[in-house]
Amino acid sequence: MTMHTAKKVLLVFLPSESGVDGARSLYSNEESNPLSAWFNHSLRSVIKRSQFAIPPLSLMILSSIEVAGVEQSICDMRFEEFPFNERWDLVGISVQTGMAKKAFLLADQLRAQGIPVVLGGAHVTLFRDSSAPHADTLVVGEADDLWKELLTDLKHATLKPLYQSATYPDLGESRPVYKESLIKSRYFTTNLIQTGRGCQHSCDFCNVHLLNGHALRRRRVSDVVREVERFQEDDQRIFFFVDDSINADPAYALELFRRLIPLKIRWFGQATTTLGQQHELLETFARSGCRALLVGIESIEPQSRRAHKKNQNRTTELVRAITTIRNAGISLYGSFIYGLDGDTLQTPAAILEFIRETRLDVPGINILRPIPGTRVFDRLREEGRLLFDPRDITAFRYTFGQEMLYRPKNIELDAFIESYSALTRQVFTVKNAIKRGMGAPDAKTAVLLFNLFYTHLYRLSRHDLQCQREKEFTEKTILPSAE
Ligand code: SF4
Repeated sequence: MTMHTAKKVLLVFLPSESGVDGARSLYSNEESNPLSAWFNHSLRSVIKRSQFAIPPLSLMILSSIEVAGVEQSICDMRFEEFPFNERWDLVGISVQTGMAKKAFLLADQLRAQGIPVVLGGAHVTLFRDSSAPHADTLVVGEADDLWKELLTDLKHATLKPLYQSATYPDLGESRPVYKESLIKSRYFTTNLIQTGRGCQHSCDFCNVHLLNGHALRRRRVSDVVREVERFQEDDQRIFFFVDDSINADPAYALELFRRLIPLKIRWFGQATTTLGQQHELLETFARSGCRALLVGIESIEPQSRRAHKKNQNRTTELVRAITTIRNAGISLYGSFIYGLDGDTLQTPAAILEFIRETRLDVPGINILRPIPGTRVFDRLREEGRLLFDPRDITAFRYTFGQEMLYRPKNIELDAFIESYSALTRQVFTVKNAIKRGMGAPDAKTAVLLFNLFYTHLYRLSRHDLQCQREKEFTEKTILPSAE
């Protein structure tokens, strides 16, 4: 009698090139002071266990798709080694640019052992040609509709080299997400909820609209509410609504969060500052347990907002909007980018004044990171302003260490590094951390810890920038012809 054993599929998530994340100095072994070395080691563990330790949602979604005769599990390589000692009929790797090199190395190794590999994710969707040599099968675009077909083909030994659909998946179809493939204790929370995808805006440094389209696609409110109820049963920790902008469709959000009020959850998410003008929705967010929101301020310079197509808020409205949201009892993480094309050496003073005036609870001050595939990346390459070879997928990392990857338009590189370092030195001090923690409308301890943590990380990132300046800036700007 022939035994039909289930096909075994392993879905793999890799850490980014910089380890987990954090300033590059955190990951070097050069620290000679034993106390600093011990502190960095401890901080690495904290980073690993807290800030970034949320499960990979895309793999949660895929592992929830059921096909009889196929068993799926998740390997999160931020926490575990690849299980080479087990039999795998297919390994699926989710590839982001910040980890593409590692992903391709692993794929090559597996294929050399005869294990078929499927690659998907943002990097594969944007760079299918350079990804193809590392895979038996590519999934291009959002995989929700394709994965069932792929697993069925695997079962029948008819796997195709490419799975790509002509349209974006209709999220109105019921697709419940399950967490059975996760080891819950590893993560800060496993309560990740996505209500929809797509973004109407076209900020040129962002790839969300390129990957998920401009039309907002929403899940049914009843599906989301059921998922929150089900998730709450086995994990009472805070919920994270991962949508890029949870208030993008205010009527939808109003209906959803009204229905969540009786569940008494605590949640955080990402929103635009337009929320400050959406009074009914803001009140509903507060009543439904919203503790903190991340808002992308990016730039307060009107000319920079225009240059990068960040058009959704006028600078004059930002201060009032932020004040209104904080007055509703919600703490705010505000993220800035310094070094955009309209910025000058006067910009840091304006950012400092903005932070003081709005009393932002956690400011994040980033340097522009030109993500391959975005319009800003192409433009900087054409203008010869990239400081790395555009073909080198290892040069770009999603790293907290705020390294220089390009030449700012209006500011000399040296002067920029000096002014950026001076800005972060002023924003992130122990005194400011305590002040922000005590003044936060909610989640005071988290705000305090975040600020203290940033005080240390930005100090390391200043050190990184100085090292980069000394070691790397020897006029090796890549020319536009380096295609
Ligand atoms: S930065 Fe935010 S608003 Fe702009 S395109 Fe990306 S997701 Fe949309």
